[in-house]
Amino acid sequence: MNLAFSAAEEAFRQEVRAFLAANVDGPMREMVRTGMRPEPAEIQAWQRRMHAQGWSAPTWPREHGGTGWSPTQYFIYETEAARAYAPVQPHQGLELIGPIIFTYGSEAQKAKYLPRILSGEAWWCQGYSEPGAGSDLASLKTRAVRDGDHYVVNGQKIWTSYAQAATNIFCLVRTEVKPRKQEGISLLLIDMDTPGIRVRPIITLDERHHVNEVFFDEVRVPAENLVGEEGRGWGYGKVLLDRERGISAAGALRLAQFVRVVKERAAAVRDSGSALLAQPDFRGKLAQIEVEMLALEGMSLRTLADAEAGVDSGPRGSMLKIRWSELVQRITELWAEALGTDAALMEPYTGVEAADEMPHAMAAYLHMRVTTIYGGANEVQRNIIAWRALGL
Ligand SMILES: Cc1cc2nc3c(=O)[nH]c(=O)nc-3n(C[C@H](O)[C@H](O)[C@H](O)COP(=O)(O)OP(=O)(O)OC[C@H]3O[C@@H](n4cnc5c(N)ncnc54)[C@H](O)[C@@H]3O)c2cc1C
Repeated sequence: MNLAFSAAEEAFRQEVRAFLAANVDGPMREMVRTGMRPEPAEIQAWQRRMHAQGWSAPTWPREHGGTGWSPTQYFIYETEAARAYAPVQPHQGLELIGPIIFTYGSEAQKAKYLPRILSGEAWWCQGYSEPGAGSDLASLKTRAVRDGDHYVVNGQKIWTSYAQAATNIFCLVRTEVKPRKQEGISLLLIDMDTPGIRVRPIITLDERHHVNEVFFDEVRVPAENLVGEEGRGWGYGKVLLDRERGISAAGALRLAQFVRVVKERAAAVRDSGSALLAQPDFRGKLAQIEVEMLALEGMSLRTLADAEAGVDSGPRGSMLKIRWSELVQRITELWAEALGTDAALMEPYTGVEAADEMPHAMAAYLHMRVTTIYGGANEVQRNIIAWRALGL
């Protein structure tokens, strides 16, 4: 792996830096810097800017409207985005279902769905988990029964992120009951305004409305919305989960922005006469995190280099997911520690005008507890590593 950037890549870095400087406006920057998670409408607004620049899909090939960037260019973009406190892009459409549609979908599905993902008009949510099917996803029970030109869907999904704002949901459903539970599962694309869909909020411990229960009651979905072949959904779903873990590589590159905020805060806070940042115990913890963050960046680069060379990186997506999620939890913990008793101030999300991180650090700290659960719990990732890397 060559760690030096070429002159063309350095020129690209300057182009990205200039774009971000001109387009990440003050309120947006402060929102990301202070740990507030942008709402879907704000992320969609950012996606429109990226789209206008021709950068709406950094990981997609050109033929489907992507940038066709090399993994190195993607690395450069994400590193600069962290530096500029740019918001993330709407990943469920761009990173999860979009690539499945352009790989396995029909021409009609590509024409109908991809342009609206690129432009940010569509907001997709992921209907995988059910009350009895999380880690053991193949136990899912939501049924889809063929009735003429439609599937009739009945069942329930849970923990569906931003279903309240979504225009579409991609769902794993059971189209046939087979002795092997991974068989008989299909992937359906469903418009959220289809009659019979009900969304019920779940408020999480950071006091935000992020996740939901989604109920399907006799929901009629056109059969043309089936992705690929009926009964092959488990295979498509697994491809998609691997991609979701790969998103951790991008997450790893954004860790630096949290570390910077913690440093700024710890330099400003004085404890027993000296800045917190100067105190050995705090410094030690921060240094340990920075070292591990650099190692993780190296691992992300390696994964991207493997992708560029067409090499299978094995369970490295799972490794990245474990390391990234644990590190982001430790960094936000240190952030709360740096704020001391001020961290106890937790205010509900107030929109882009709030500029101080104090009311939001605790919410960010609490929210980040989820990273070791979603996208496949870390215990499950460890099982994958044991199986795929160690042959256990
Ligand atoms: C905030 C949030 C957002 C989410 N967003 C979405 C979304 O948009 N769409 C979606 O479909 N899902 C979403 N999820 C669901 C998420 O993917 C599941 O919560 C996750 O897969 C774990 O499933 P579970 O909650 O049913 O826990 P369980 O599977 O019941 O696991 C409970 C505990 O047991 C452990 N465990 C389970 N099986 C094993 C095993 N074989 N070996 C070792 N340990 C095991 C787990 O690691 C965990 O600690 C979200 C979850 C949260 C909390």
